[in-house]
Amino acid sequence: MPDHDVDLFIIGAGSGGVRAGRIAASYGARVMIAEEYRVGGTCVIRGCVPKKLLVYASRFSEEFEDAAGYGWTVPEPTFHWPTLIANVNRELTRLEAAYTSTLERNKVALVKSRAVLEDAHTVRLANGARVHAETILIATGGWPYQGPKIPGLEYAMSSNEAFQLKELPKRIVIQGGGYIAVEFACIFAGLGSEVTLVYRGDNILRGFDDDIREHLRGEMRGRGITVICGHTVAAIEKTGDEFVTQLSDSSSVASDKVMFAIGRRPNIMGLGLDSLNVNIHEHGGIAVDEFSRTSVPHIYAVGDVTNRVNLTPVAIREGHAFADTVYGGKPTPVDHNNVPTAVFSEPELGVIGLTEMQAIEQLHKVDIYKSSFRPMKATLPGRDTRMFMKLVVDGTTNRVVGCHIAGPYAAEMIQFIGVAVKMGATKDDFDATMAVHPTAGEELVTMREKALSYTGGIALN
Ligand SMILES: Cc1cc2nc3c(=O)[nH]c(=O)nc-3n(C[C@H](O)[C@H](O)[C@H](O)COP(=O)(O)OP(=O)(O)OC[C@H]3O[C@@H](n4cnc5c(N)ncnc54)[C@H](O)[C@@H]3O)c2cc1C
Repeated sequence: MPDHDVDLFIIGAGSGGVRAGRIAASYGARVMIAEEYRVGGTCVIRGCVPKKLLVYASRFSEEFEDAAGYGWTVPEPTFHWPTLIANVNRELTRLEAAYTSTLERNKVALVKSRAVLEDAHTVRLANGARVHAETILIATGGWPYQGPKIPGLEYAMSSNEAFQLKELPKRIVIQGGGYIAVEFACIFAGLGSEVTLVYRGDNILRGFDDDIREHLRGEMRGRGITVICGHTVAAIEKTGDEFVTQLSDSSSVASDKVMFAIGRRPNIMGLGLDSLNVNIHEHGGIAVDEFSRTSVPHIYAVGDVTNRVNLTPVAIREGHAFADTVYGGKPTPVDHNNVPTAVFSEPELGVIGLTEMQAIEQLHKVDIYKSSFRPMKATLPGRDTRMFMKLVVDGTTNRVVGCHIAGPYAAEMIQFIGVAVKMGATKDDFDATMAVHPTAGEELVTMREKALSYTGGIALN
């Protein structure tokens, strides 16, 4: 008889933990998983899923406006936030139940409790009970970071609370320039709020291709969002029901809500890692090898808590690969290169691979192809919006090493462009692919003129 209670104890029933538990159990492991809040984790309960539902809701305003250009007469539409939130919450409850029954079906024992590490093989639950496990997987995700203490910080909500507001704010100030800040700015603007986005950097979406960043910023401005870069929030004052947000240049903005979305931090506080000598990476996540193994034998970590690529499909892949490696006899490293990703802004973005700047830094020869055009659907309503696409090509091998799209369905497009880029498709392969007409995507296989070429980092045209 083994002297441990379970083969595997997983802390956190989010994207990574649930997948790891299900797959490990399918290989015959006795698995227990602890969840301190709601099964499904960030993605299902306060991330991707509720966010995308709010994005859908926010896009109706433009649809109603554009309908007139296509001959429709739409009565003055009205929007009711409490109905939206109630419907979203009902869907989240359904998904949580589906995740829970997946665990039950796969014979993964679920404990609704916080769990912390006592030693390398012992987990302690909130009621003091101890569970001995041969292997422990930490999948505790991340948490919103609210920044250094400033006066009035307690008035700033995070994305967690934004999903549960009682009413739609008429005016909102959002601090942050990453994808969560940008997405919420577009959601609130689409639903009718007056939005001010404040970001300390020189432009939103640091790390994305510069042309895409500039394009989106312009489109956001065109939709009435005030984007203030190069400033931070210095203080927040409450006067009655109103907040006055003071910026670093001493200007101020009045609003009904203030939200900070300035980053997330791995959820490692109080887990008991210090006494176990589990190494923490300099970026703040649990340090792991390519098999998600920590510095302590039999302790593994997957997902946002490792701060590698903080996206749901990556956490799921890491959890699955962990189970294949440890219980399936198939050592499976996870490849974090060329991860396609989307920003559900308005317009949305889909990107994969190198930006133009990264390519110039990493490759000897680089060719850039660009296209900017008015999407066909915008023509009849006369909407002033443009689509933008860029291909980054390795000038030596002709391989497409980056693709950046801003416009309707960019997220859907990048999923499949991702397959081509991952397979090492060349620009010639793109050119040889017949266009699908009339679509926006056809532009990706019909860009013939180089916009720019670089050799040794020097632009040639
Ligand atoms: C607003 C927002 C929008 C997002 N949008 C997208 C998107 O569009 N696409 C995308 O790919 N990704 C998106 N993400 C990121 C995505 O949600 C995460 O990358 C993903 O959820 C990470 O999964 P995980 O398993 O690592 O952690 P999580 O899903 O965060 O799960 C961790 C779980 O562990 C639990 N837990 C923590 N500590 C303990 C403990 N000590 N004991 C017991 N339980 C504990 C938590 O309650 C949580 O349920 C978004 C995130 C946010 C915040």
